[in-house]
Amino acid sequence: MDEQIQFVDLKKQYLSLKPEIDAAIQRVIDTTAFINGPDVARFEADFAKFCESTYCIGTGSGHSALELIFEALEIGKGDEVIVPVNSYISTALAPSFSGAKAIFVDCDPETYNIDPKKIERAITRKTKAVAVTHLYGQAARMDEIMAIAKRHKLQVVEDAAQAHGARFKGKRVGNFGIACAYSFYPGKNLGCYGDGGAITTNSAALAKKLQLLHYFGQTKKYVHAIKGHNSKLDTIQAAILNAKLPHLEIWCERRLELARYYNEKLSGLPVKTPAIDPDGKHVFHIYCIVVHRRDRLLQFLKERGIHGNIHYPIPIHLQKAYKELRHTKGDFPVAERLASNIISLPLFPELTHEDIDRIVAAIREFYSERG
Ligand SMILES: *Cc1c(COP(=O)(O)O)cnc(C)c1O
Repeated sequence: MDEQIQFVDLKKQYLSLKPEIDAAIQRVIDTTAFINGPDVARFEADFAKFCESTYCIGTGSGHSALELIFEALEIGKGDEVIVPVNSYISTALAPSFSGAKAIFVDCDPETYNIDPKKIERAITRKTKAVAVTHLYGQAARMDEIMAIAKRHKLQVVEDAAQAHGARFKGKRVGNFGIACAYSFYPGKNLGCYGDGGAITTNSAALAKKLQLLHYFGQTKKYVHAIKGHNSKLDTIQAAILNAKLPHLEIWCERRLELARYYNEKLSGLPVKTPAIDPDGKHVFHIYCIVVHRRDRLLQFLKERGIHGNIHYPIPIHLQKAYKELRHTKGDFPVAERLASNIISLPLFPELTHEDIDRIVAAIREFYSERG
């Protein structure tokens, strides 16, 4: 039987960095600095630098980072937040939990990111912010989005959970809006070994507030200025991230290179390969193609040891969780069409050109066999 090609092979990356990662974890245990140890401050400083942002606050997860941002911005009851309907549900849940109403906007048929042309139509007197996901690792059209936000005096919150290191017109994502959320969920481009997240911002006032909000509102031990949460980056996770961060830029390059190789090899087959915006730098968290007979192709690949995925099979507006908004099929046709025709193929820095050759050969076989 052929060797399995996992969708994401976390073991391969661990083995390539085992001595550094094991030593980083051991160091935390040896010093028993389990909570807010020196690794956390070091990671926050180094990740801020990597993101070309002034401030970074570690959080318990990417979702928590988003929730804290909306809470810090005091966006809540009676407010509306524009949200891409084609994203992970977290982007919508965060403003929902702060009490705001999520107003969905369809995606662009080429980049799958929020369609700037459709944002303006969704704005009302209640709109306070636009949440923007840099989906699959590709920056959204931030020039157009920021111009709209400026015109209507809206905050822009970036969700770069899939886009560590991506750029738009030379500028790192996360530096366009007021604040940006990152996730270090294990399979993300920079992943830890559990839950972890971070917020970056260039606003001193917001950073100060988030610093309090993410840790019991504490100014110093047992002194609490505001009511805060307990959502911090775990020290062992920070130590692992410190061991991995120096490799992130190279991993981003490798992902882009592998994606280009996929695009080249798949050309001529009846699949739609991802568009790479020449104004941006795509870091390919996910390599997503649009295909015919999607479910049968996924099964065909699986039988050959190739593990694909779907990001995401149900657009947010059709999730039961949002039934109160009474959306129906047809409300966001671009996202809906994608949801039933997309496949994410394996992509991670340790994947090889030979793996891609094998995956493409299987796709070719599928379409030649069944016409
Ligand atoms: C992964 C992800 C999140 C949530 O991150 P967690 O760390 O799992 O909480 C939010 N938004 C997007 C777009 C994501 O991909």
